[in-house]
Amino acid sequence: DSFIKLNLPRPLIQACKTLGYKKPTPIQAACIPLAMMGRDLCASAITGSGKTAAFALPTLERLLHRPKRVFATRVLILTPTRELAVQIHSMIQKLAQYTDIKCGLIVGGLSVREQEVVLRSMPDIVVATPGRMIDHLRNSMSVDLDHLSVLILDEADRLLQTGFATEIQELVRLCPKRRQTMLFSATMTEEVKELVKLSLNKPLRLSA
Ligand code: AMP
Repeated sequence: DSFIKLNLPRPLIQACKTLGYKKPTPIQAACIPLAMMGRDLCASAITGSGKTAAFALPTLERLLHRPKRVFATRVLILTPTRELAVQIHSMIQKLAQYTDIKCGLIVGGLSVREQEVVLRSMPDIVVATPGRMIDHLRNSMSVDLDHLSVLILDEADRLLQTGFATEIQELVRLCPKRRQTMLFSATMTEEVKELVKLSLNKPLRLSA
């Protein structure tokens, strides 16, 4: 019942220890092994369940074990609000503290120019709200999704209520077809089911 049994790389186990995590939460125990097999996941999980580490740990593992062939962003995490994006970004920085993995934050309220610099620096992981990500996609040449290998759709039900449902679909279509996708949602509305169809390939369904 420990993180060691999940076969996570040492720097990630060390980070969990530093954060005081003694054992995986149920959603982590369910998600991490399947995500590490490269499968697409559709999980119903709420904030507070430990879902951030449930998708972040296997994603970091993938980045550590598959050395990058090109200098590019390889993971995009979309989340509905600025507050959630800030939390996810901060959690990833903590989980990645013993690695050289870089994470960038793309949200409204911060300078567009500064964020272009962030995007051009090709952080391994980008955490973004859909509105600002779409702005960058349409108005600057700084977004490059061509080398994305993991897409995470966090709080999919709320993501689709941001007023950017069409834009989110557009973003999904712009991602490479060969990728791993994980979708998390508190509720499985018809809209979420449509997004599941569009974005996931033979997903495993989990709830915790
Ligand atoms: P989340 O559901 O991802 O928003 O996480 C909720 C809170 O649980 C955060 O403060 C995490 O730091 C914490 N947390 C995540 N995983 C664990 C774990 N395995 N053990 C203890 N706390 C955890």
